[in-house]
Amino acid sequence: MSIARNIKDLHQRIKECALAFGRDPRAVNLIAVSKTQPAEKITEALRAGHRLFGENKVQEARARWQDLRAGYPDLKLHLIGPLQTNKVRDAVALFDCIETLDRPKLVSALAKEMKKQNRMLPCFIQVNTGEEKHKGGVVPSDLTGLLKMCREHALRIEGLMCIPPVDEPPALHFAFLAKLAAEHDLEQLSIGMSADFEKAIPLGATYVRIGTALFGARERA
Ligand SMILES: *Cc1c(COP(=O)(O)O)cnc(C)c1O
Repeated sequence: MSIARNIKDLHQRIKECALAFGRDPRAVNLIAVSKTQPAEKITEALRAGHRLFGENKVQEARARWQDLRAGYPDLKLHLIGPLQTNKVRDAVALFDCIETLDRPKLVSALAKEMKKQNRMLPCFIQVNTGEEKHKGGVVPSDLTGLLKMCREHALRIEGLMCIPPVDEPPALHFAFLAKLAAEHDLEQLSIGMSADFEKAIPLGATYVRIGTALFGARERA
């Protein structure tokens, strides 16, 4: 299996899907989710010219990218996994976008750290659209209050992100998230993974987060 080939195929599928629904394919960004993938595969993706990656754990991402990214000035790294306040310093130093902002404590911690490092990173708010107990994300009824707090702290909120419950039709959740984003004038939507990105694009995805369809199965969870 060739990573370069997979990336090319994914761009083609994204393009076809976007065009079929009257959207500009360039408005849909492909995040290569590299969590737990071996270094050779990352190198292959970089060699193929890919520059946008997603990681779900701060320490793992740091170990992998801290030195590597020096060679790629145009690299962009998105944090797509839960962020604990004690990892905020490392996260702000390493990532270019935090997609999983989901609670007041994190708003104040991120605002403080971004100011300190003078790195005002764009953020997405993760919404727990399925209101699942174990899952990160703000519940929809608390979104307005959290956004207000973000504004008060001058955080750059660019959009919303969600991970639908595994046992429900993802399109329902994508549509719901799109509606919330429109209500709050937020332009970016991080929705869709390997199995369902073609359902997310018609509903307005501007970022799709693709792991296994790009790199193959992960070695461990
Ligand atoms: C792992 C992960 C993905 C990628 O999932 P695939 O099904 O491998 O494409 C996307 N988003 C988040 C938040 C993830 O943790």
